[in-house]
Amino acid sequence: MQRRGFLTAVASVGASLTAVGSVRGAGTEDEEPIDLGAGPYRTNEQLTRDLQALDASSERISLRELAQSTGRGDPIHEVQVGEGETNVHLITQIHGDEPVGTEAALLELRRLAHGNTEEIDRTLDALTLTVIPRVNPDGAMYATDTDDDSETERLSRRQNTQGWSSDASQYEPYYHATPDDGPPGYDLNRDFNIRTDFEGVPDGEGDWWSQLEREGEDEESSEAEWALNMPYENGTLSKSGLLLAPETSAVVDSFFRADPDYAITHHHQGLATLPESGSPPEPSVLSVMAAFGPAYEERAPYYDADAPVEEYANPFLSAETSERSLRLNTLVADALAETTGPWDAFDSVTRYGYSSLWGSYLDTLCPRTGAAGMLYEIAGQSDEVGSRGFGLKLEATRVGFKETWKALAADPDLSSVDAESYFEIPLKGEDLGETTENEAAGSEASAANGGGSGLGIGPGPVGTR
Ligand SMILES: [Zn+2]
Repeated sequence: MQRRGFLTAVASVGASLTAVGSVRGAGTEDEEPIDLGAGPYRTNEQLTRDLQALDASSERISLRELAQSTGRGDPIHEVQVGEGETNVHLITQIHGDEPVGTEAALLELRRLAHGNTEEIDRTLDALTLTVIPRVNPDGAMYATDTDDDSETERLSRRQNTQGWSSDASQYEPYYHATPDDGPPGYDLNRDFNIRTDFEGVPDGEGDWWSQLEREGEDEESSEAEWALNMPYENGTLSKSGLLLAPETSAVVDSFFRADPDYAITHHHQGLATLPESGSPPEPSVLSVMAAFGPAYEERAPYYDADAPVEEYANPFLSAETSERSLRLNTLVADALAETTGPWDAFDSVTRYGYSSLWGSYLDTLCPRTGAAGMLYEIAGQSDEVGSRGFGLKLEATRVGFKETWKALAADPDLSSVDAESYFEIPLKGEDLGETTENEAAGSEASAANGGGSGLGIGPGPVGTR
């Protein structure tokens, strides 16, 4: 009976999922790979060298190699510090062109490895912190060109560099990109699967695939894409991942070993405005996003009383886990607002409109251990701002991380933070540089995530995360 209900639902899902995001391009959504120049971001070699030096210089640190990246064979590292009862899992740079989380994590790991303050002692006693700095080494180092003896061109991109073959899955999943002039690759933050025992779609389990009609500008770009859906009660979890990338599997293994109470993932987004900040509008330094379940469903930006909860929130997240997630995100927004100079801009944190994303780290993994989730979307893709932008992004992230450890060490449930305050954080506004024609958008849902404008995708809840 349940199977029949599921199949019926799949048929309708295919029709409703139009104008979904494309990952055909190599870089941020539809765009070209990003030129990091000789920027301040570590190469994979430098990252490995610095982590090994940290491990060798501090007994507090343990370093392990989880896996090797698909294309370059570069190590994917896991670093642990602390011996406390509250477990925190942090991943950075799952999108290769979003490097600041990695750099901020390195700063924090160094501080925790070598610092001698009461605050650090309390953190190490209370927390066990597990970090995967740079989940996607191939994307981080994509297209290094050293054909000139003095200049090194370094590009980066969102996806890994892994081809798809029909041996891997019945259809090429929608989140596999095949750019014209570069290796194909997966968007790793679409590759997770809610089922722990998932080993591909078993034979005879029915048709779990739906066809997504992508609306291209011409016939050639309007090809069909396919998404895997998972059965859930009388509905589906749309666009689930297939665990096809070794990088994704490495994160899953790390997550279950860490058994986290809190799970944090760091991303970049375009430059977005702080709503109602005047004219010209003030940029928002960071958007935060909590993952939450039915207990807060009516607060979801895309709440629809007639739709199943799994389409706009996460039915597997308990009220208690949801509440801690709201608190953690609020804590970081408050901590940044209270941080004075050199940048007043820290008092501009916005909220990224949450909707469940069934191939993502947060929505698929958090429910498995009751982890309260948090997503950072630091403002500014790597190619959009210069070195001052780098300093600001790094510092905002570092403050967020540091204040998180400090607060969790003092109060593991963050019971002093008001969960409801999360919904008072303004939803992020329009993308800077876009026309303001959507300014009049009235509903919370259409305002969420800048209405999707300028993100290379149609209106919708997912954005670049
Ligand atoms: Zn991202």
